[in-house]
Amino acid sequence: MTLALDLRLRDLVDAGEVVVLSGAGLSTESGIPDYRGPSGALRRHAPMTYQAFVGSPSARQRYWARSYLGCRQITAARPNAGHRAVAELHRRGSVRGIITQNVDGLHQAAGARDVVELHGGLDLVVCLACGMRESRASIDARLRAANPTFGARVERVNPDGDAELTDTELDAFRPVGCRYCGSDLVKPDVVFFGESVPRARVEACYALVESAATLFVLGSSLTVMSGLRFVRHAAKRGTPVAIVNQGPTRGDPLASVKVDAPLGEVLPALLT
Ligand SMILES: [Zn+2]
Repeated sequence: MTLALDLRLRDLVDAGEVVVLSGAGLSTESGIPDYRGPSGALRRHAPMTYQAFVGSPSARQRYWARSYLGCRQITAARPNAGHRAVAELHRRGSVRGIITQNVDGLHQAAGARDVVELHGGLDLVVCLACGMRESRASIDARLRAANPTFGARVERVNPDGDAELTDTELDAFRPVGCRYCGSDLVKPDVVFFGESVPRARVEACYALVESAATLFVLGSSLTVMSGLRFVRHAAKRGTPVAIVNQGPTRGDPLASVKVDAPLGEVLPALLT
Protein backbone atom coordinates (compact mmCIF):
# COMPACT_ATOMS: atom_id res chain seq x y z
CA MET A 1 0.00 0.00 0.00
CA THR A 2 1.43 3.39 -0.89
CA LEU A 3 1.40 6.24 1.59
CA ALA A 4 -0.77 8.35 -0.72
CA LEU A 5 -3.48 5.70 -0.86
CA ASP A 6 -3.27 5.12 2.86
CA LEU A 7 -3.82 8.82 3.62
CA ARG A 8 -6.75 9.19 1.22
CA LEU A 9 -8.41 6.15 2.71
CA ARG A 10 -7.77 7.37 6.23
CA ASP A 11 -9.19 10.82 5.41
CA LEU A 12 -12.39 9.31 4.04
CA VAL A 13 -12.86 7.04 7.05
CA ASP A 14 -11.99 9.76 9.56
CA ALA A 15 -14.57 12.04 7.92
CA GLY A 16 -17.23 9.54 9.08
CA GLU A 17 -20.69 8.70 7.68
CA VAL A 18 -19.11 5.64 6.09
CA VAL A 19 -21.30 2.80 4.83
CA VAL A 20 -19.53 -0.54 4.44
CA LEU A 21 -20.33 -3.04 1.69
CA SER A 22 -18.53 -6.28 2.52
CA GLY A 23 -18.05 -9.53 0.66
CA ALA A 24 -16.48 -12.96 0.94
CA GLY A 25 -12.92 -11.61 0.95
CA LEU A 26 -13.50 -10.23 4.44
CA SER A 27 -14.18 -13.71 5.79
CA THR A 28 -11.43 -15.69 4.06
CA GLU A 29 -9.06 -14.89 6.94
CA SER A 30 -11.61 -16.62 9.19
CA GLY A 31 -11.22 -19.79 7.13
CA ILE A 32 -14.39 -19.43 5.06
CA PRO A 33 -13.59 -20.07 1.40
CA ASP A 34 -14.13 -17.28 -1.12
CA TYR A 35 -15.63 -19.14 -4.01
CA ARG A 36 -15.43 -16.17 -6.34
CA GLY A 37 -12.00 -14.97 -5.26
CA PRO A 38 -8.54 -15.98 -6.38
CA SER A 39 -9.04 -19.55 -5.14
CA GLY A 40 -12.46 -19.81 -6.79
CA ALA A 41 -11.22 -22.44 -9.21
CA LEU A 42 -11.08 -24.79 -6.22
CA ARG A 43 -14.83 -24.77 -5.91
CA ARG A 44 -16.05 -28.33 -6.00
CA HIS A 45 -19.71 -27.91 -6.78
CA ALA A 46 -21.72 -25.69 -9.05
CA PRO A 47 -23.88 -23.52 -6.76
CA MET A 48 -27.32 -24.84 -5.99
CA THR A 49 -29.90 -22.72 -7.78
CA TYR A 50 -33.23 -21.83 -6.26
CA GLN A 51 -35.00 -23.55 -9.16
CA ALA A 52 -33.09 -26.82 -8.67
CA PHE A 53 -33.66 -26.68 -4.91
CA VAL A 54 -37.42 -26.25 -5.02
CA GLY A 55 -37.79 -28.50 -8.08
CA SER A 56 -36.28 -31.70 -6.76
CA PRO A 57 -36.47 -33.57 -3.44
CA SER A 58 -33.17 -35.30 -4.23
CA ALA A 59 -31.47 -31.92 -4.87
CA ARG A 60 -32.70 -30.80 -1.43
CA GLN A 61 -31.51 -34.01 0.19
CA ARG A 62 -28.02 -33.57 -1.30
CA TYR A 63 -27.95 -29.90 -0.42
CA TRP A 64 -28.75 -30.64 3.21
CA ALA A 65 -26.18 -33.44 3.42
CA ARG A 66 -23.40 -31.09 2.21
CA SER A 67 -24.76 -28.18 4.20
CA TYR A 68 -24.93 -30.24 7.40
CA LEU A 69 -21.17 -30.76 7.17
CA GLY A 70 -20.24 -27.40 5.63
CA CYS A 71 -22.10 -25.47 8.30
CA ARG A 72 -19.89 -26.90 10.99
CA GLN A 73 -17.00 -25.11 9.31
CA ILE A 74 -18.97 -21.85 9.32
CA THR A 75 -20.33 -22.12 12.86
CA ALA A 76 -16.78 -22.87 14.03
CA ALA A 77 -15.45 -19.72 12.28
CA ARG A 78 -14.59 -16.71 14.40
CA PRO A 79 -14.42 -13.03 13.41
CA ASN A 80 -10.98 -11.92 12.24
CA ALA A 81 -9.04 -8.66 12.66
CA GLY A 82 -10.95 -7.13 9.73
CA HIS A 83 -14.39 -7.82 11.26
CA ARG A 84 -13.20 -6.53 14.62
CA ALA A 85 -11.85 -3.33 13.03
CA VAL A 86 -15.16 -2.68 11.26
CA ALA A 87 -17.05 -3.21 14.53
CA GLU A 88 -14.69 -0.79 16.28
CA LEU A 89 -15.13 1.83 13.53
CA HIS A 90 -18.87 1.42 14.00
CA ARG A 91 -18.57 1.80 17.76
CA ARG A 92 -16.50 4.96 17.29
CA GLY A 93 -19.16 6.40 14.98
CA SER A 94 -17.12 6.48 11.75
CA VAL A 95 -19.20 3.68 10.21
CA ARG A 96 -22.93 4.33 10.18
CA GLY A 97 -24.09 1.08 8.64
CA ILE A 98 -22.96 -2.20 7.13
CA ILE A 99 -24.32 -4.03 4.12
CA THR A 100 -22.84 -7.50 3.83
CA GLN A 101 -23.05 -10.03 1.05
CA ASN A 102 -21.83 -12.66 3.54
CA VAL A 103 -24.17 -15.10 5.23
CA ASP A 104 -21.76 -16.10 8.02
CA GLY A 105 -22.85 -13.62 10.72
CA LEU A 106 -19.24 -12.69 11.51
CA HIS A 107 -19.81 -8.89 11.49
CA GLN A 108 -22.39 -9.36 14.25
CA ALA A 109 -20.18 -11.88 16.06
CA ALA A 110 -17.48 -9.18 16.15
CA GLY A 111 -19.94 -6.83 17.84
CA ALA A 112 -21.14 -4.72 14.89
CA ARG A 113 -24.74 -3.52 14.89
CA ASP A 114 -26.88 -2.16 12.05
CA VAL A 115 -25.85 -4.96 9.70
CA VAL A 116 -28.04 -5.58 6.65
CA GLU A 117 -27.49 -9.12 5.41
CA LEU A 118 -28.11 -8.59 1.71
CA HIS A 119 -28.19 -12.30 0.94
CA GLY A 120 -29.70 -13.40 4.25
CA GLY A 121 -28.01 -15.38 6.99
CA LEU A 122 -27.19 -19.02 7.59
CA ASP A 123 -28.36 -18.77 11.19
CA LEU A 124 -32.00 -19.25 10.13
CA VAL A 125 -33.93 -21.66 7.94
CA VAL A 126 -37.34 -20.94 6.46
CA CYS A 127 -40.14 -23.28 5.40
CA LEU A 128 -41.23 -22.33 1.88
CA ALA A 129 -44.61 -23.99 2.45
CA CYS A 130 -45.78 -22.28 5.64
CA GLY A 131 -43.20 -19.50 6.14
CA MET A 132 -42.13 -20.59 9.63
CA ARG A 133 -38.53 -19.89 10.57
CA GLU A 134 -36.29 -22.04 12.71
CA SER A 135 -32.81 -21.43 14.02
CA ARG A 136 -29.88 -23.22 12.45
CA ALA A 137 -28.95 -24.62 15.87
CA SER A 138 -32.41 -26.15 16.20
CA ILE A 139 -32.50 -27.79 12.76
CA ASP A 140 -28.90 -28.89 13.20
CA ALA A 141 -29.89 -30.75 16.37
CA ARG A 142 -32.80 -32.40 14.53
CA LEU A 143 -30.53 -33.38 11.61
CA ARG A 144 -28.00 -34.83 14.05
CA ALA A 145 -30.72 -36.90 15.71
CA ALA A 146 -31.92 -38.16 12.31
CA ASN A 147 -28.36 -38.95 11.19
CA PRO A 148 -26.54 -40.14 14.29
CA THR A 149 -23.61 -41.72 12.46
CA PHE A 150 -23.42 -39.61 9.28
CA GLY A 151 -20.94 -36.96 10.46
CA ALA A 152 -18.55 -39.37 12.10
CA ARG A 153 -18.65 -41.73 9.13
CA VAL A 154 -17.97 -38.96 6.59
CA GLU A 155 -15.28 -37.34 8.73
CA ARG A 156 -13.46 -40.64 8.95
CA VAL A 157 -13.23 -40.64 5.15
CA ASN A 158 -12.92 -36.85 4.61
CA PRO A 159 -11.25 -35.35 7.69
CA ASP A 160 -11.44 -31.75 6.39
CA GLY A 161 -15.22 -31.97 6.16
CA ASP A 162 -15.15 -30.21 2.82
CA ALA A 163 -14.22 -33.04 0.51
CA GLU A 164 -16.42 -34.47 -2.19
CA LEU A 165 -19.07 -36.80 -0.79
CA THR A 166 -19.82 -39.95 -2.73
CA ASP A 167 -23.33 -40.59 -4.00
CA THR A 168 -23.63 -43.42 -1.48
CA GLU A 169 -22.75 -41.07 1.37
CA LEU A 170 -25.18 -38.42 0.11
CA ASP A 171 -27.98 -40.93 -0.36
CA ALA A 172 -27.57 -42.16 3.22
CA PHE A 173 -28.39 -38.69 4.60
CA ARG A 174 -31.90 -38.19 5.97
CA PRO A 175 -33.14 -34.58 5.72
CA VAL A 176 -35.80 -33.37 8.15
CA GLY A 177 -39.04 -31.55 7.41
CA CYS A 178 -40.61 -28.38 8.76
CA ARG A 179 -41.28 -28.59 12.50
CA TYR A 180 -44.70 -27.02 12.04
CA CYS A 181 -46.22 -28.31 8.78
CA GLY A 182 -43.96 -31.25 7.94
CA SER A 183 -43.10 -29.98 4.42
CA ASP A 184 -39.64 -30.90 3.17
CA LEU A 185 -39.35 -27.46 1.48
CA VAL A 186 -37.07 -26.21 4.22
CA LYS A 187 -34.40 -23.82 2.96
CA PRO A 188 -31.66 -21.78 4.60
CA ASP A 189 -32.86 -18.18 4.85
CA VAL A 190 -30.26 -17.10 2.30
CA VAL A 191 -30.70 -15.88 -1.26
CA PHE A 192 -29.77 -18.67 -3.66
CA PHE A 193 -28.48 -18.19 -7.17
CA GLY A 194 -31.50 -17.63 -9.39
CA GLU A 195 -33.40 -15.97 -6.56
CA SER A 196 -33.93 -12.23 -6.04
CA VAL A 197 -33.08 -10.27 -2.92
CA PRO A 198 -36.38 -9.16 -1.31
CA ARG A 199 -37.35 -5.71 -2.65
CA ALA A 200 -37.67 -4.07 0.78
CA ARG A 201 -34.15 -5.17 1.68
CA VAL A 202 -32.74 -3.74 -1.57
CA GLU A 203 -34.54 -0.44 -0.92
CA ALA A 204 -33.12 -0.30 2.62
CA CYS A 205 -29.63 -0.75 1.18
CA TYR A 206 -30.14 2.02 -1.40
CA ALA A 207 -31.33 4.32 1.40
CA LEU A 208 -28.25 3.46 3.45
CA VAL A 209 -25.96 4.13 0.46
CA GLU A 210 -27.70 7.48 -0.11
CA SER A 211 -27.01 8.42 3.52
CA ALA A 212 -23.28 7.71 3.14
CA ALA A 213 -20.46 10.24 2.80
CA THR A 214 -18.29 7.34 1.61
CA LEU A 215 -19.12 3.84 0.38
CA PHE A 216 -16.39 1.52 1.63
CA VAL A 217 -16.18 -1.80 -0.23
CA LEU A 218 -14.36 -4.54 1.69
CA GLY A 219 -13.37 -7.86 0.19
CA SER A 220 -15.71 -8.07 -2.75
CA SER A 221 -14.78 -8.45 -6.39
CA LEU A 222 -18.26 -7.06 -7.14
CA THR A 223 -18.73 -9.82 -9.68
CA VAL A 224 -22.50 -9.88 -9.40
CA MET A 225 -24.89 -6.99 -9.88
CA SER A 226 -26.32 -7.63 -6.42
CA GLY A 227 -23.41 -5.65 -4.91
CA LEU A 228 -22.15 -3.70 -7.92
CA ARG A 229 -25.43 -1.77 -8.25
CA PHE A 230 -24.77 -0.02 -4.92
CA VAL A 231 -21.31 1.04 -6.07
CA ARG A 232 -22.79 2.40 -9.30
CA HIS A 233 -25.50 4.19 -7.32
CA ALA A 234 -22.96 5.85 -5.02
CA ALA A 235 -20.71 6.88 -7.93
CA LYS A 236 -23.65 8.34 -9.85
CA ARG A 237 -24.49 10.48 -6.83
CA GLY A 238 -20.91 11.69 -6.56
CA THR A 239 -20.33 9.78 -3.31
CA PRO A 240 -16.69 8.64 -3.04
CA VAL A 241 -16.18 4.89 -3.29
CA ALA A 242 -13.18 3.36 -1.50
CA ILE A 243 -12.31 -0.27 -2.20
CA VAL A 244 -10.01 -2.58 -0.26
CA ASN A 245 -9.74 -5.95 -1.97
CA GLN A 246 -7.07 -8.39 -3.00
CA GLY A 247 -7.25 -8.43 -6.77
CA PRO A 248 -9.25 -6.40 -9.28
CA THR A 249 -12.95 -5.65 -8.84
CA ARG A 250 -15.65 -4.60 -11.27
CA GLY A 251 -15.99 -1.40 -9.25
CA ASP A 252 -12.38 -0.28 -9.75
CA PRO A 253 -13.18 2.20 -12.57
CA LEU A 254 -15.64 3.94 -10.22
CA ALA A 255 -13.41 4.01 -7.14
CA SER A 256 -11.83 7.14 -5.70
CA VAL A 257 -9.41 4.98 -3.70
CA LYS A 258 -8.42 1.37 -4.35
CA VAL A 259 -6.14 -0.54 -2.02
CA ASP A 260 -5.03 -4.02 -3.10
CA ALA A 261 -3.87 -5.52 0.19
CA PRO A 262 -5.03 -7.94 2.90
CA LEU A 263 -8.03 -6.61 4.86
CA GLY A 264 -6.61 -7.99 8.09
CA GLU A 265 -3.74 -5.50 7.72
CA VAL A 266 -5.43 -2.46 6.18
CA LEU A 267 -8.47 -2.28 8.49
CA PRO A 268 -6.71 -2.50 11.88
CA ALA A 269 -4.24 0.15 10.61
CA LEU A 270 -7.18 2.57 10.19
CA LEU A 271 -7.82 2.41 13.95
CA THR A 272 -4.47 3.84 14.96
ZN1 LIG B 1 -43.74 -25.41 7.26
